[in-house]
Amino acid sequence: MNIVVIGGGPAGLMAAEAAISRGARVDVYDAMASVGRKFLLAGKGGLNLTHSESAESFLGRYGERRRHIQPLLARFGPEALREWARGLGILTFVGTSGRVFPSDLKSAPLLRAWLRRLRQSGAIFHMRHRWCGWNESGALRFSTPQGDRLVSADAVILALGGGSWPRFGSNGAWVGLLIERGVPVEPLEPANCGFDVNWSQHLRERFAGHPSETGRGFWHDERG
Ligand SMILES: Cc1cc2nc3c(=O)[nH]c(=O)nc-3n(C[C@H](O)[C@H](O)[C@H](O)COP(=O)(O)OP(=O)(O)OC[C@H]3O[C@@H](n4cnc5c(N)ncnc54)[C@H](O)[C@@H]3O)c2cc1C
Repeated sequence: MNIVVIGGGPAGLMAAEAAISRGARVDVYDAMASVGRKFLLAGKGGLNLTHSESAESFLGRYGERRRHIQPLLARFGPEALREWARGLGILTFVGTSGRVFPSDLKSAPLLRAWLRRLRQSGAIFHMRHRWCGWNESGALRFSTPQGDRLVSADAVILALGGGSWPRFGSNGAWVGLLIERGVPVEPLEPANCGFDVNWSQHLRERFAGHPSETGRGFWHDERG
C-alpha cells in the first residue's frame, strides 16, 4: 500500500512512522524546503514534550475533548512518548513544574534523529510541494518550483497543521480546499490557553495583535 502524507510537522512524521511500521510505502510531501520548521521553533524556548502528572489530572487538561483523547493516550501516553524519544537517543527530564523536556531542551537533535530513522526505514520526502487540492479524476495536485505535479496514492493523510506562524508553513489554506469538497471543517481557533492582562498603554499601542514569544524564559524555573 502506498500512503501519501501531506505535511511534515510532528503529526505528519508520526503518521509516516506508524504507516511504515505497518508495512506501507510512504511519501511525505511538504510545501516548505524542509520539514518540521514550527517544531524547530518550538524547541527554541525549550521543547515541552509532555507532562509527568497522574493520568487522571493529565486527562483533565483536555476538557470536552477528554473522551476522544483518552483512548489515544491509553495507547500512546506520556511514558510511551518518553520511551519513543529514548529510542531516538534523546533522554528527557522532569522539570520542577512536572513538565517533561529533552535533556538539552532542544528539538533539533530529536528532529534530526527522527528524520534519519524515517529515511532509513524507507520514507521518501518531497520538499517544496504545496498541495493545492485535487484534479477532476481525484489525483492530488501539487505546485512545485518545476511546475504542477499530479500524484495518486492508495490513501492520503493530511497533517497540514493549524493556521498560526504561516511563515513556518502552516497557513490554514487547506480549510478552503476541504470545504470546496464538501468536507465539514470546524473554524480554526487558538487551542492554547487564554488569559487577560492589563497591558500598559505602550505595549497596547506597539504590540497589539502580534504573536508573543511563548515558551521563552521558562527554563530558569525548570532547572532551578
Ligand atoms: C513558539 C512556539 C513554541 C511551541 N512550543 C511547544 C512546546 O514546547 N511543546 C509542544 O508540544 N508544542 C509546542 N509548540 C506547538 C507545536 O510546534 C505544534 O503543536 C506542532 O508543530 C503542530 O504539529 P503539526 O504537525 O500538527 O503541524 P505543523 O508543525 O504546523 O506542520 C504542518 C506542516 O504542513 C505543511 N503544510 C501546510 N500546508 C501545506 C500544503 N498546502 N501543502 C504541503 N504542505 C503543507 C507545513 O509546511 C508544515 O511543515 C510551539 C509552537 C510555537 C509557535
